[in-house]
Parts: sequence; structure tokens; C-alpha cells
Amino acid sequence: MASPQYILSLDQGTTSSRAIIFDMEQNIVSVGQKEFEQIFPQPGWVEHNPMEIYNSQLDSIYSALEEQHIPPSAISCIGITNQRETTIMWDKSTGEPIYNAIVWQCRRSAPLCEELIASGMGETIRKKTGLLPDAYFSSTKIRWILDNVPDARRRAEAGEILFGTVDTWLIWKLTGGKVHATDYTNASRTMLFNIHTLEWDKDLLKLLNIPECILPEVKNSSDNYGTAVINGVEIPITGVAGDQQAALFGQCCFEKGEAKNTYGTGCFLLMNTGDEPIQSKNNLITTIAAGINGKVTYALEGSVFVGGAVIQWLRDQMKFITHARESETMAQKVADNGGVYLVPAFTGLGAPYWDMYARGCLIGITRGTTPEHIVRAAEESIAYQTADLLDAMVKDTGIPLKSLKADGGASADNFLMQFQADVTGVPIQRPAIRETTALGAAYLAGLYTGIWKDTNEISSSWKLKKQYLPQMDHKDRSHLLEQWHKAVRSSMGWAR
Ligand code: ADP
Repeated sequence: MASPQYILSLDQGTTSSRAIIFDMEQNIVSVGQKEFEQIFPQPGWVEHNPMEIYNSQLDSIYSALEEQHIPPSAISCIGITNQRETTIMWDKSTGEPIYNAIVWQCRRSAPLCEELIASGMGETIRKKTGLLPDAYFSSTKIRWILDNVPDARRRAEAGEILFGTVDTWLIWKLTGGKVHATDYTNASRTMLFNIHTLEWDKDLLKLLNIPECILPEVKNSSDNYGTAVINGVEIPITGVAGDQQAALFGQCCFEKGEAKNTYGTGCFLLMNTGDEPIQSKNNLITTIAAGINGKVTYALEGSVFVGGAVIQWLRDQMKFITHARESETMAQKVADNGGVYLVPAFTGLGAPYWDMYARGCLIGITRGTTPEHIVRAAEESIAYQTADLLDAMVKDTGIPLKSLKADGGASADNFLMQFQADVTGVPIQRPAIRETTALGAAYLAGLYTGIWKDTNEISSSWKLKKQYLPQMDHKDRSHLLEQWHKAVRSSMGWAR
């Protein structure tokens, strides 16, 4: 039998399930991908079918193995990274879901969150969990299922029902129902986990009327999660982390003060804050970055709702471009933004503004304004929003940033990366491997099985593809940011 030569990373995302096979030198040797249905039962509601999530994940594994004729026996271990917060509940004895997965984007439990805030519980929730009470997080989704699915509460209280985020669901299915567990990073997104005591919080469970017996065991991100049986071959699952935390790990941000930004549909900026959970004064979230050998590291997190999506808007709605990549060349056709600013607050503004009534705003237009200026303003908006998050993080931590690591689809855009370096005054680094999320899960899995000795050994293998150094002078940078903030103020409160 062949000795294990590969690590299998399962990247269970919001729109597709992917399986990525890495060799021991961290090269991607094969990728399998399967999309699945997005279910919108009502405006603002988003669901997935849990069986489809599982089956699409299995399909992606088989296609990745088959594509390169890799036998399952050549896989040494499995790492799992997943869309976070999405909530699944199922029958413990049959393995049948009792309801669809309620996806992180789903707003159905917003009224319950508003009640929690109105009753003055916001600060308590924040102190215990590091989160701002919001329908994104799992706890109010669990409560919705308990209250609305016939017989769910009685059965849950009788110990017949289990809850899990997507990692937990996949582990349970892959181990044939033997393991009901999650890792610290995923637990920290449920709004039920006390990130200081590292336990499910009894007060919050009581407040939300959720029985503790449905909750999974919380383990290290690098740990023994049982074995998956793939084509009759048993493969240990040894790494688990939520997608953004996995990306932070895959970018080797192991030291306090190191940060990464993922430029996808939205942007997710996470900074490692070491063993200290920092409570933000600027509306950022405190979360667990990873748990290894019983030791937890924390992170500050901020997100931008519309990041790369503004480029999709230019393409699909404005028809200024036909492919996302054209935005880069078009932005470079003009010497500057011509005084035009675009605030893409299409669905309100996230951190640090948190204004759900803000709406998109295009301002500074003159007779000389061309589509190129507007494309440039859109590209610049991604960088300004990130600069605002970074600024909030530096204020909260007091740690000046040495560099920012970039990944995600829009990190391919050279204009955007250079402009990001210019407006933040910080070097931007793009790694050789863009699949940082999957790589992070592979690192976590391989750390447990001894493929890597420790994070130092992993760090030494991180490869830089391109670095963008700040070139703009201080005066120009201040002027642009000042104008940007003026534009942001114009967009705020618009839909109130
Ligand atoms: P997600 O994981 O959120 O689906 P991806 O990481 O795949 O997102 O990134 C896709 C986003 O990046 C899209 O919003 C797209 O508009 C943007 N994008 C992709 N390529 C480029 C590019 N070359 N220049 C600018 N934006 C891009």
C-alpha cells in the first residue's frame, strides 16, 4: 500500500463544496468542486439542504481523488473549513435533519436580536462571546428552529436532537455518527460560547432557552475528530476551523499583530491579538483565531459587506466592464479618481460604521467624469473600506501594523493591491498559494499528525508571490481619506 503523501482539505463554502488535495510541499495537486442550491423561502431568508451540503462535499472528494487517480490510502489526514454560523439540527438516531440549514446570511431571527438588545442584554452578550448581538450568529437560529419546527423543543429537551455548525454536521456524517464535536473557532461564532472560560455559557443558554444537551463537544482546531471512511479507507480528521480563521492560519498570521484581509464578495479582515481577547471600542468583533494544545489565540475581526461585489455591480448592472479583471486596466487609464467617490453601501455599512440605513452614494461628479473615473472610484472604495477597518484595529490594539496579507478573488487586482498599500501606508503581501482557507485547514490537520512540528516550521514555508510597497506621499493619502470620509457621511442614514 502507498504511504500517505497528501492532505485532503474540505472547504465547505456558502455556494459550493470543494475538496483540495495538497502534497507535503503544500502544492495543490487536485481540486473537486460541486455547487448546491440556495433556497430563499421568503425575502431575507436563506437556507441550504443539509443532505445536499454533505453529498456535494462527498462528490467533491471523489472527483478530486479521481481526477489525479489518487487512492484514498494516499491521504494522510483531513482538514475541514466551513461557512461559519450556519445552523443545522438533526435527529440523533436517524441522522435526518429536522429542518433545512439556516444560513449565516438569513435575517429571520433579527426581531429576536432586537429584543435582546432592547432588554439590555447586548453588553452581557458582547462581554461573554465577543460578538455584537446579530441574526448572523447561530444561537437565535437554533431558537427559531426550537420554536417553529413541530415537536422540536420537546425532542431536543429529551436528548433526541443534535445541533451543529457545518463542520460539526460534516464530522458527524463522515464518522458515521460517532463524533459530535466542533472546534473553538466555530464555537466562538454561535453566540453561546464564552470565549474567556472556553465553555458553553449557562447564562446565555438560559436566556435563549436552549437545552445544553444538543451542543457538540468543543475541541482544539488541531485535534482528533475521529475517522472518515472514504471508499472503505479510514482517514483521520485532524483539523477544523471556520473559513476566515482558517485563512488567517493559512496566511501564517501566527504572531500577535499579524493580519490578513480576504478580498471576496465582501472583505474579511482578521488580526491575531495573541492570548488577549481585546474588546473593541470601534465595533469590531472579538473571536477565537485557533485553539492548539489547549491554548487559544484570539483575533479581532471586521467585515465589509460589499468588497469585490462592487466590481460585479460594475459588470452586471452598470455594464462598464464585461469581466471583473477589466476593472484593473480601466482604473489605470485615468491618472486619479477625478474627485469622484463611490460608497458601495448597497446593503448598509458594516464595521466600523454599522449603519443599516446607509445606501450607496456616488459623489463628486462633474462634466469631465468618465466611466473610467467611476470604475476607479469603485476599486478605490474596496481599499478605503479596508483602510477604515485597519484603522479601527490599530486604535483598538495599539499595535502598528507591519504588513497586511491579502487573499480572495479580488486580490489578483494589481491596481487595487497597490492602492491599498498607498492608502494604508502598509506593505500588502500576496502569497504564492491563493487557496489560503483550504491551506489553513491542511496546516491544522498536518500539525496534529506531525507532518509539521510546529507553527515555526509552517511559517518558514510561507511563500510570497508579490509585495506592494506604499508609494503615495502622506499629504495625498490624507486628502483622499478625508474626501472618502466626507462621502461616507453623505451615504449614512439615507434610507432611514
Ligand atoms: P467569494 O469567495 O466571496 O465568492 P472570491 O474570493 O471568489 O469570492 O472573489 C470573487 C470576487 O472578487 C467577486 O466579487 C469579483 O467581482 C471579484 N474579482 C475577481 N477577480 C477580480 C479582479 N481581477 N479584479 C477585481 N475584482 C475581482
